[in-house]
Amino acid sequence: MGSPGPTHNFAAGPATMPPEVLERARASLVDWRGLGHSLLEAPFTCDEFRALMDTTRNQIRTALALPDHYHILFFQGGASAQFSLIPLNLLPPHATAGYVETGHWSARAIEEGQRYGPALVVASSRDTGFDRIPPVSQWTLTEKIRYCHITPNETANGVQFQSDPDCGSIPLVADMTSEFLSRPIDFQHYGMIYAGTQKNLGPTGLVIAIIRDDLLGNARPETPTVFNYQLQLEQHNRINTPLMFAIYLTHLMLDWLETQGGVKAVHIRNRSQSQSVYRVIDEDDFYRCPAISEHRSIMNVCFGIKDAHLTQRFLAEASASGLANLAGHSHSGGLRASLYNAQPDLAVTALTSFMDDFRRRYG
Ligand code: PMP
Repeated sequence: MGSPGPTHNFAAGPATMPPEVLERARASLVDWRGLGHSLLEAPFTCDEFRALMDTTRNQIRTALALPDHYHILFFQGGASAQFSLIPLNLLPPHATAGYVETGHWSARAIEEGQRYGPALVVASSRDTGFDRIPPVSQWTLTEKIRYCHITPNETANGVQFQSDPDCGSIPLVADMTSEFLSRPIDFQHYGMIYAGTQKNLGPTGLVIAIIRDDLLGNARPETPTVFNYQLQLEQHNRINTPLMFAIYLTHLMLDWLETQGGVKAVHIRNRSQSQSVYRVIDEDDFYRCPAISEHRSIMNVCFGIKDAHLTQRFLAEASASGLANLAGHSHSGGLRASLYNAQPDLAVTALTSFMDDFRRRYG
């Protein structure tokens, strides 16, 4: 039996990418920019790749209206590597870093960060099951804190900061992995933001790190050279071989983002898509959403079924209807629909119709 139609992919990352981007990527595997071979076979020192790195950085700067005193760097090792590299680069020995604990990924950042110095949890929603974002007025910020680490969108828990918090003179360091380029950012509060690109930009392994000028140059001596922010900046991010194909895919996704009207336009679409799924969840008590309504994520809609026995049936029937990868994160369980920038409206309509129908049949 053939498939019932196109598969809509709700994976939390690596996530769905626009077909036109994949087509362009395919073409680059035959002959990239007239070199007569693919990008995969090109030396990273060639003029074409140098130009591509510059273009990609400029695209990020333009898309986010990033002020000049922030630098953009590409790293390998995924967002998880930055949990260690941030204190190594920004935190002098024995100095204190602040952390806001709002779910699985901020907890992972704390776990790693505390290996490099005191990690002070200035606020946490652990007691309420990571169902909300503690208001900044309740954070226990003290002068000894060098920077305050936040995870504005918790991929596994489905909660999201609704605005960029203001910590006064304490710079924010934000893991924006699952919301990067999905909304405009008010940079004045941030010392650094970083994001793995496998959500809104597609490729895995690549991290985009954006660092404010005055925070650079403080790396501990034991920091690996290839992960030293200042040294990579000085050497044009070419101390070692960059993730060339991932940077190329990021460039293609940024081209695509521009055709969609940029971050402001996709933010409106992201909000509207998530609202239509939350509307179905909130209709009665068949479905449940663990996050309080004010702090729900527009990227990762985490939900469950009141009768948890129906979860596996929901997943099996969804998959048979061409709705793939709706299982929740392994730590949270339940269900999750990830609605990153490239998620088409068509997929969201297919999902909400399926959810309505499933409720009619089993409610
Ligand atoms: N932070 C957040 C918010 C994430 O969602 C993820 C991945 N799901 C990570 C960090 C870890 O990313 P990586 O696998 O690239 O290390």
